[in-house]
Amino acid sequence: MATKMIFNPENHNFKKIKELQANGYELLCPKCKATLVIALTLDEAKEKGVHPGMYCPTNPQHVHMTVSLASTKQSLWEKLEK
Ligand SMILES: [Zn+2]
Repeated sequence: MATKMIFNPENHNFKKIKELQANGYELLCPKCKATLVIALTLDEAKEKGVHPGMYCPTNPQHVHMTVSLASTKQSLWEKLEK
C-alpha cells in the first residue's frame, strides 16, 4: 500500500517527486486531498492519457505542473536536478 503525502509546491520539485514516486509514495492535492495524477515520462503520460506532468484530478487549478519532453528535455532535467 502506498504511503500518502501532501504535495508541497515549495519543497517538491520534479526530482523530489520522482524519488517519492520511486519509493512508493502517493502525493495528495494540498487543497482537496485527492491523489495527484503523476506522469513524468512519455510512456506514463500515454498510459494515463494525460500530458506529461502532475495534476489534481479534481481541479487542475489546485495543482498543475507540466513537463516538457521536447528537444529541451536534457537541459530541462539538468536545470531541475540542480
Ligand atoms: Zn485538488
